[in-house]
Amino acid sequence: MTTLTGKTALVTGASRGIGRAIAFALAKQGAQVLVHYGSAQKEADEVVNGIRSAGGRAEKVGADLSVPNGAHELARQVRQIVGDRLDILVANAGVSKAAPIEEMTTEDFDKLFAVNVRAPYFLVQQLLPALTQGSSIIFTSSLAARAAVGNISAYAATKGAISTLVKQFASLLGGRGIRVNAIAPGVVETDMSNFAKTDAGRDFTLGMQALKRVAQPEDIAGAAVFLASDSARWVTGDVLSVDGGSKL
Ligand code: NAD
Repeated sequence: MTTLTGKTALVTGASRGIGRAIAFALAKQGAQVLVHYGSAQKEADEVVNGIRSAGGRAEKVGADLSVPNGAHELARQVRQIVGDRLDILVANAGVSKAAPIEEMTTEDFDKLFAVNVRAPYFLVQQLLPALTQGSSIIFTSSLAARAAVGNISAYAATKGAISTLVKQFASLLGGRGIRVNAIAPGVVETDMSNFAKTDAGRDFTLGMQALKRVAQPEDIAGAAVFLASDSARWVTGDVLSVDGGSKL
């Protein structure tokens, strides 16, 4: 028996980066994982196959979360697979856009809020019939929600909205026994933060961190496993910094 044996989990944006690492980590602890992807079906297949060949259980589910009914479509597919019980929802998919205030466009601003805020909100709404006593919702906030780092003000605002939703949803859903938390990574070396691969990006990152190395996706996954597990049964409404001590 592992900590998540018998549980079902959905991880959005699980074809790569942090979502991929979380999908593998949840599966390793025994959860059946629904690996969501936007357009990268081949990469999602690789994650599903990787989980299965390690003895775990996984299925892929595809939906574009930038369109208004994207979360509804994803929830429909998920409920077809899990029925009326989803134990773990990791709303991880997200987009970023670095731009000075003067250069931000309304199109980019709207897309940031569509994928990073609207989709997680309506995913919870649409999955509510399957979320039940003991279910754990894990949003993905960011260091950017609590500190000014780089030219990412619009992106940071989406993550601020997520940190607010954590408290609202935790309060509203606590009576049903559903916990709601977020993880807030600092800089993690993924396609989203590929500046961390440059010398300047590395110096910038290490300059604001207590721990002096650049985080990898696997450094974030353990926190998601914890929040999904019974070890976190008394933790709700919290945003857990997983950032190597950034901007202390
Ligand atoms: P990533 O770009 O590697 O992965 C993002 C994932 O979201 C991908 O799987 C992508 O397919 C999915 N996605 C994006 N747009 C989508 C859409 N329209 N429809 C469906 N799926 C879509 O980035 P990552 O670093 O792994 O980021 C994962 C989460 O962590 C994001 O919410 C991000 O904001 C957050 N985060 C990342 C960092 C970092 O430094 N990398 C720091 C703090 C928070």
